[in-house]
Amino acid sequence: MAKLSIRDLDLKGKTVFMRVDFNVPLSEDGQTITSDKRIRASLPSIQYALEQGAGLILASHLGRPKGKPNPTMSLKPIAVKLAELLGKPVAMAPDCVGAAVSAMRPKPGDVLLLENLRYHAEEEGNDAEFSKQLASLAGVYVNDAFGTAHRAHASTVGMIQFLPQAAAGLLMDKELEYLFKITQDPPRPCVAILGGAKVSDKIEVIENLMKIVDRLLIGGAMAYTFLKAKGEPVGKSLVEDDKLDLARKIMADAGAKLLLPVDHVVAAELKEGAPCSTVTAIPDGQMGLDIGGKTVEEFRAVIAGAKSVIWNGPMGVFEKPPFDKGTVAIAKAVAESGVLSVVGGGDSEKAIKAAGVSGKISHISTGGGASLEFLGGVELPGVAALTNR
Ligand code: AMP
Repeated sequence: MAKLSIRDLDLKGKTVFMRVDFNVPLSEDGQTITSDKRIRASLPSIQYALEQGAGLILASHLGRPKGKPNPTMSLKPIAVKLAELLGKPVAMAPDCVGAAVSAMRPKPGDVLLLENLRYHAEEEGNDAEFSKQLASLAGVYVNDAFGTAHRAHASTVGMIQFLPQAAAGLLMDKELEYLFKITQDPPRPCVAILGGAKVSDKIEVIENLMKIVDRLLIGGAMAYTFLKAKGEPVGKSLVEDDKLDLARKIMADAGAKLLLPVDHVVAAELKEGAPCSTVTAIPDGQMGLDIGGKTVEEFRAVIAGAKSVIWNGPMGVFEKPPFDKGTVAIAKAVAESGVLSVVGGGDSEKAIKAAGVSGKISHISTGGGASLEFLGGVELPGVAALTNR
């Protein structure tokens, strides 16, 4: 369902409440921002709203203050950083609701940053009265925080019912454009590549993607639960024994659609630089830590024949070389395919960066949990709440 975009709104002279994701990593004392990536990612929507003549209220959570003020999780350092990036003053509110905040309503072209939404337990509780207070600050709502769209909180869902229009910001808009396209109308054949640690974390994703894609390639530790379910030797690889029946059912339903690794890089221990070898049958006492070269070739051939690709999760213990090779090879294969590609999950993104191919991926999702839920077929509450186009 297409959602209203910030570009569809008349913002001139309006006070806009923009939910952003300023949940940046901070030093322990909360004074220094260690990565401003998320702030920079919000700049296009912020600048757009200001250029259109809006007075802009920005709101975010930061860390887990558990419903009460905590100076190590204040957004004050973010106001300073944002002012530097925008080249203009950013007023800092003492709280996110209340009379003092209402009195700070920004004039057209001005920016007000609210204090941490999660200083109030009512934010995560999606409390109606708190939602009403947030909504009373503005005339228009914009959500640019895709990373929290899978949460039904006051600032992502509750407050929307008290405002006439709710639109996606530019970042959110791009996420939705790619995620809707790849799940509802993907160019075919569409290939999904899934990896990572556990089948149990991605059951919904596997089951939903099975309905959408033409081929599903499974790597990472997840593959060993499937291989064990098939009766293959897995040594001491990571296996979820309580998911063997489920794996059998998924394989029976999927038939030839599902591809598993045919060889493995194994070692006796999960340690960076551990002595390793490539095998087709995993011996006792060894564990599979990456997909082998034959598997890379098989997966690469399928990816090369695809017209669209979805990728989530590493093919091996990517953080510990030499077990990163399979994941990096798949990153390159996805990039080289040159087709519509949507990648989610922090590890896949790191692999793409390590392979130096970021520019060749159509879309790298900014929201790990949110994109996983989306791929699992869940309607994200923060997206569902936005006004339909
Ligand atoms: P996820 O968050 O589910 O995408 O899982 C990512 C984690 O899976 C990473 O920390 C990887 O090290 C881990 N992983 C991938 N393949 C394996 C494997 N064969 N054995 C153990 N852990 C793995």
